[in-house]
Amino acid sequence: MLTNAPKGTKDMMPEEAYKWHFLEEKFADICRRYGFQEIRTPVFEHTELFKRGVGDTTDIVQKEMYTFKDFAGRSITLRPEGTSPVTRAYVEHKAYAGVQPHKYYYNIPCFRYEKPQSGRLREFHQFGVEIFESSDMMADAEVIAIGYEFIREMGITDVELEINSVGCPDCRQRHRDALRAFLEPKYDELCPTCQERFHTNPMRILDCKSPIDQELVKDAPMMLDYLCDECRQAFEDLKANLDALGIPYKVNPRIVRGLDYYTKTAFEFVTTKIGAQGTVCGGGRYDGLIEEVGGPSTPGVGWGMGKERMLMTMEACGFEIPEEAGTEVFIAYMGDEAKKAALKLMGELRSAGVAVQMDVMGRNLKNQFKHANRINAKKTVVIGENELQTGRLTIKDMATGDQKEVSLDSIADELK
Ligand code: ATP
Ligand code: MG
Repeated sequence: MLTNAPKGTKDMMPEEAYKWHFLEEKFADICRRYGFQEIRTPVFEHTELFKRGVGDTTDIVQKEMYTFKDFAGRSITLRPEGTSPVTRAYVEHKAYAGVQPHKYYYNIPCFRYEKPQSGRLREFHQFGVEIFESSDMMADAEVIAIGYEFIREMGITDVELEINSVGCPDCRQRHRDALRAFLEPKYDELCPTCQERFHTNPMRILDCKSPIDQELVKDAPMMLDYLCDECRQAFEDLKANLDALGIPYKVNPRIVRGLDYYTKTAFEFVTTKIGAQGTVCGGGRYDGLIEEVGGPSTPGVGWGMGKERMLMTMEACGFEIPEEAGTEVFIAYMGDEAKKAALKLMGELRSAGVAVQMDVMGRNLKNQFKHANRINAKKTVVIGENELQTGRLTIKDMATGDQKEVSLDSIADELK
C-alpha cells in the first residue's frame, strides 16, 4: 500500500521525464509561433465552477470528479479539465477589458475518477488552447491548425481530424425534439446511462460507446440536418478555412459536445494506433460558457489534448525522442588539497553553464572513473597531488579515448 502509487496514477521517473520535457518545449514553441500565451490556474477550484462550466448532465460532473470538503467546509474539486478554470480566471481578472482576442495555452495535470485502462488514467495531463472573444470561424480554424501542426511536428502521421457542428441552442432544441421522437420507441433497449440522457441531454446518446446503443441510433436524426442558416453558414466557413489551410478533415455527425453552452464547431483528432482510447485531442466552440460562469457574453473556442495519448501515439508511429544532454565533465580527485582545487574548478564551470559532477560517495579514484563511465560523462579530468604540483591536467574524451594536457590556469576556459 505505502509503496504503491494510487490506482490510475503514474510516477514519472527520469527515464520518462525527458520525453515530457521534449513534448512540453515543442508545445510552448508552437504556441509562441501561433501567438498563444501561457496561463496557469490552480490545481483545485470551487466545485461549483465545474458543475456550471462542464455541466451537471455530463459524466465528468456526475461520476468522475475528485471532490472533497476542506477544513472550512468548502466543496473543492481537483480540476478535471482546463477550460472552466481558464474562463474563471479570465472573468476574475477582467481580462476582457484588454486587447482582444485573448489566446491562451496551458499545460496541466487533470483528475478524473475513471476506470483506469490504456490511455485512461485518474491523474492525466493535458495541453490546451483557447481563443476568447471571436465568433469568426477563423478562430476555430486557428485552434484546429495549431493542433494539426503540433500533431504533425510530433511525427504522428496516422491521425484523422473529424469535425461536426452541434449548432446553437435554437437548432439544438429542434434536433432534441426530433431525436426524442425517434428514440421514444427504443427507450427500453437503451443502456441505463442513455435512458437518463434521454431525459437530460439526448444528444449525448449519439456519443454512447455501447455497441447496442450505437446500433439503436444508427439512423437517428443528425444535428447537421437541423442547423439554422447562421450555424450552417458557420460550418461552411469553417470547412472553407480548413481547405484554404490545406488541413484534411472528415465530417463526423456523431461528434457531440453535449452542453447547452457548447455551440457550432465540435472536433476530434483520432488515431487508430493506440487502441480504444484513440482521441488524442478534442475540442470545440463554447459561446455560452463565459457568461455561464459569470462573465460578459463572450464567444470562445479551444481544445484539450491528452499528453499521455500523444506520447503513446508518437511512440507507436516510431518517433524517436532525443535524449537530453547529460554530464559534460566529471572531475575525479584524490587527496584533500586536490579536492579543494576540484571543488573550485567545478564551481567555476557550473557558473559558466557547464554540466559538471564530482563524486559525493567517497569513492576511490578507480571507482570514480567507473562511475564517470556509467553516467556517460563526456569528458573526465583528474586532479591529484601530481597534477597540483606540476600544474598540468589531462582532459580525457570518454568516447574517443583522446587525451589533452592543459594547465590548471587555463582548464576552466578550455572546458567552457
Ligand atoms: P474520452 O473520449 O477519452 O472519454 P473526453 O471526451 O472525456 O475523452 P476531453 O474532456 O475532451 O476528453 O479531454 C481532452 C483530451 O484529454 C482527450 O481527447 C484525451 O486525449 C485526454 N483525456 C481525457 N480523459 C483522459 C483520461 N482519463 N486519461 C488520459 N487522457 C485523457
Ligand atoms: Mg471521458
